[in-house]
Amino acid sequence: MKDGYGRVIDYVRISVTDRCNLRCVYCMPEEGVKVLPHEAILTYDEIERICRAMAKLGVKKIKLTGGEPLVRKDLPELVRAIKALPGIEKVTITTNGVLLAERMDDLAAAGIDAVNISMDTTDPELFAQVTRVGRIDAVMDGLKAALSYPEIPVKINCVPVTSEKENFVNMARLAKDYPVHVRFIEIMPIGYGKQFEFHNEDSIRAVLESEFGAFTPCHEILGNGPSHYYSVEGFRGKIGFISSISHKFCEQCNRVRLTAEGFLKTCLQYETGNDLRAVLRNGCTDEELEEVISRTIAGKPISHNFNEEKIAPEECRSMSQIGG
Ligand code: SAM
Ligand code: SF4
Repeated sequence: MKDGYGRVIDYVRISVTDRCNLRCVYCMPEEGVKVLPHEAILTYDEIERICRAMAKLGVKKIKLTGGEPLVRKDLPELVRAIKALPGIEKVTITTNGVLLAERMDDLAAAGIDAVNISMDTTDPELFAQVTRVGRIDAVMDGLKAALSYPEIPVKINCVPVTSEKENFVNMARLAKDYPVHVRFIEIMPIGYGKQFEFHNEDSIRAVLESEFGAFTPCHEILGNGPSHYYSVEGFRGKIGFISSISHKFCEQCNRVRLTAEGFLKTCLQYETGNDLRAVLRNGCTDEELEEVISRTIAGKPISHNFNEEKIAPEECRSMSQIGG
């Protein structure tokens, strides 16, 4: 399936819930989080139906995200159902890792193809500050549970929340100690992220190269999209960067997003998209659903413009509502 600018769209990020068991400072408020009522959230049958339609239109890869996807009951059932759809090649998850130790066996049995764990620091005190309620030990247990399945690739996502060089170095060191790729994600000015200091790829890389030696660009494709990776001498995993602000990659964008309440979002920055929940609950046929999805994707904006003039109404949802 192509959008109006000829980009192939074969990847969908699906938020299965807006709820979360952490309160990361750049993503959610500390208190007074408004959660959607259960009936507002797409059921697993509705998500599966949308995935079936998308697979018919050429989508091959699905990422389950949230909020925290593992707080939704029976998630492995959804993994199994989507994996069984003709045309779907990979179903992966992005999680904060807190519940991963207890859920990893079921996810693996359901056929999960890769696991991304979000962890911004290895320091217990800083982790508790950043997540407001989290314990790093639980996430490390989750990481180890994921690594007990060597056939399932594991990546770590780090939003640099402090300018302390030591934190960048300690996070990168995880790729030395474990067979995981560690990716540094530039914070985006969306929702609560607007208030935070921005650390760009070049400054982080300079710190890491002075500690670990020169990085070698790696041209292997290691995931669904926009990260680029470097090999580092003596490291078991690669170091990656997702630099949506300093190294914009919209011309290669291959993705759309589905929010927990079924809004098909075509660009992270803008509100542009369509309410698929309304379409489904109004009793559409499969053909009508496919037609709405293709029409929505055809209207995908050409790019985000975080620091420039806006080309459409800007998104007011927070990352926990969108799915990152
Ligand atoms: N709760 C899960 C987790 O944390 O992995 C999945 C949802 S979370 C919204 C997905 C990703 O978005 C996480 O890696 C998180 O760090 C990232 N994120 C949240 N707010 C962000 C922002 N303003 N800029 C960049 N990344 C952000
Ligand atoms: Fe929850 Fe993920 Fe947002 Fe942190 S980044 S508050 S874990 S949804």
